[in-house]
Amino acid sequence: MPRRHLTRWLAAAILLGATVARPAATPGPAPLWPTELLHHLDYVDLRVAAAHFGLKAGWARADFALALTDAGRVRASFEVNQKDFYFDGLRVFLGVPVLAHHDSLWVSKLDLIKIVAPLLDPAAHAALLPAAPPHTIVVDPGHGGVDPGTRNPRIGLDEKTATLDVAKRLARILETRGWRVLLVRDKDTELSRDKKTDLLMRDEFANRNKADLYLSIHFNHATASVTGIETYAMTPQFMLSAGDDHGDEMTRVAFPGNRMDYANLLFGASLHRALTTSLKVPDRGFKHAREAVLRMLDCPGALVECGYLSNDAEAARVALPDYRQRIAEGLATGIQEYANALTLLHPPAPAPAPAPGLLAPPTRPPASPAPTEAAHPPKGS
Ligand SMILES: [Zn+2]
Repeated sequence: MPRRHLTRWLAAAILLGATVARPAATPGPAPLWPTELLHHLDYVDLRVAAAHFGLKAGWARADFALALTDAGRVRASFEVNQKDFYFDGLRVFLGVPVLAHHDSLWVSKLDLIKIVAPLLDPAAHAALLPAAPPHTIVVDPGHGGVDPGTRNPRIGLDEKTATLDVAKRLARILETRGWRVLLVRDKDTELSRDKKTDLLMRDEFANRNKADLYLSIHFNHATASVTGIETYAMTPQFMLSAGDDHGDEMTRVAFPGNRMDYANLLFGASLHRALTTSLKVPDRGFKHAREAVLRMLDCPGALVECGYLSNDAEAARVALPDYRQRIAEGLATGIQEYANALTLLHPPAPAPAPAPGLLAPPTRPPASPAPTEAAHPPKGS
């Protein structure tokens, strides 16, 4: 969407705040989660949440760290005043910190509903997830052309070069496995010389091509010692993005990308787990942000920062083709695991048995793999 359209749309959404921001006041069942107001927000006791999920809650460190366990295995662990928690060993960021209250730790109701509960119990959220695994996947190599992204000056490696190479490797792997893959760009080019328009054209490309899944590939920069993987999903409405303590005019807006909050979460967690596991690098966290490339998406999506070019050792690894192949394979594993999770949550209905006395219908030939298609860049870029 051109920026002027987004601005107009955003202004209209904010003007319509009463309908955008507040759920309809229809009578319904009593709220599932008993809450208390802490720091002006609804919070839920993690011991109550644990009981709901059939987990045992106990102090791992008295008054400091609470673990939710299943048959002795830690499923989730929380620390007081921290925004991150660990889910099956994966570092996941919440919108607001966990708080200590009444001999327990408490999590905000929004974080519980949008992050903790769907991660711990995806089956209970199956109706809110796509009914079938993805068929068409749009892969977005971040930056390009006039926009090099971040850069490691010592080895002369630009982010735009590394993202394009990883995206092409990922497309080859996915096409071999039968997926239809489209690349937002397949050469060193920008979509628009205006950065904001360029970003919006990337999710517009996914929407125009009826993508079932969107992945934006990036590399990161920070102080020189930092290494590892960060993954981002679109921030749910009202939630604070990573690194944001106050919110802004976008916090109250429900964007098109928020229709897939639960699928975004499942996809982001699958990618983040697959990549941190396969590369064996530090887990910098699965986070939420209202990224321009995620806001307007009509399908589930995520953005992955596959390593820090600001760290010379990590940049030197990224400069190796073998390492970029490992990144691509990790991303492909994450996509496969997301697709597998959807299949498990929505098993195909069994074929109806033939009526007694009637001939069984002729058997169909086995389904052929999905057609593959050469990746192509958008027209007119
Ligand atoms: Zn980038």
